[in-house]
Amino acid sequence: KPAAGFEGLKMISYEDIGGLKGELQNVRETIELPMRHPELFRKLGIDPPKGVLLYGPPGTGKTLIAKAVANESGAHFISIAGPEVISKYYGESEQRLREIFDEAEENAPAIIFIDELDSIAPKREDVTGEVERRVVAQLLTMMDGLEERGQVVVIGATNRLDAIDQALRRPGRFDREIEIGAPSEEDRIEILRIHTRGMPIEGENRLILKRNEFNCSSGTEKITLEKELKQIDDEVHRVREKMLEEFGSKTNGFVGADLAALAREAAMRALRRYLPIIDLETDEVPQEILESMEIKLSDFRD
Ligand code: ATP
Repeated sequence: KPAAGFEGLKMISYEDIGGLKGELQNVRETIELPMRHPELFRKLGIDPPKGVLLYGPPGTGKTLIAKAVANESGAHFISIAGPEVISKYYGESEQRLREIFDEAEENAPAIIFIDELDSIAPKREDVTGEVERRVVAQLLTMMDGLEERGQVVVIGATNRLDAIDQALRRPGRFDREIEIGAPSEEDRIEILRIHTRGMPIEGENRLILKRNEFNCSSGTEKITLEKELKQIDDEVHRVREKMLEEFGSKTNGFVGADLAALAREAAMRALRRYLPIIDLETDEVPQEILESMEIKLSDFRD
């Protein structure tokens, strides 16, 4: 039976994360290293953490990091959203948490990702509900009870670090806190590069045609074509870099999720430009149209 949240896992890798280099390194040292090489930690007499808190604004890549670390370290991944655990029926929330920890221990190494941790574990003085109080207590009990440290790790994500119960932030619980902030201009360029990786930007189709022509040619023709190919390649490269630079600098305040949406929206605009020439009643879109479809820089603009 697939783990909860498995459908959203896909094969996210470190290559899919833009910016956040230091943060990712920190998460890897804290989670992946002890998972893969517990002997290093045993030898040095240090305890790997049981919990790591990722905090920062929404859409900055907290979930992405958790998925990538699980994937790349081959850990079983269980993802839950805080509010989902809170059940109004007496005792059910605790039962749900116990099941999640059982599943993790049975499938260790494992990562339990709790999104919106603040909704399960708000500061106890803020809490009016009895349920939340019991859930925090249960979560603490489960984390304290983890036997082999480092083989089951809980990653909590929150937009509001100050809203998390202090008891959870003590050593032996979520004892590492890593800020996942909004991306810098350089990071935004990297994120856009990732999200436009597979997109045909202006000029790219011409490059593909020229490449085919080159591959099918021989002798002196190949030498002439090689020069042309190089020229087009440089030109296309320049257009793509220009796009990345322009939209990297124009998007102050955008987080990763916004940049992903920007790239998707540009592709949708391009698609709308082609719709009038596509007969949607026929089963297949003609190859020539498919081969000519491109995303223009203007598709990215307002
Ligand atoms: P929330 O607090 O709302 O749960 P989050 O920080 O967990 O947000 P993610 O779910 O990781 O955000 O990001 C949403 C989407 O935005 C990702 O699936 C990805 O497409 C894109 N994204 C966010 N940050 C990055 C990044 N640093 N690099 C590449 N893509 C990113």
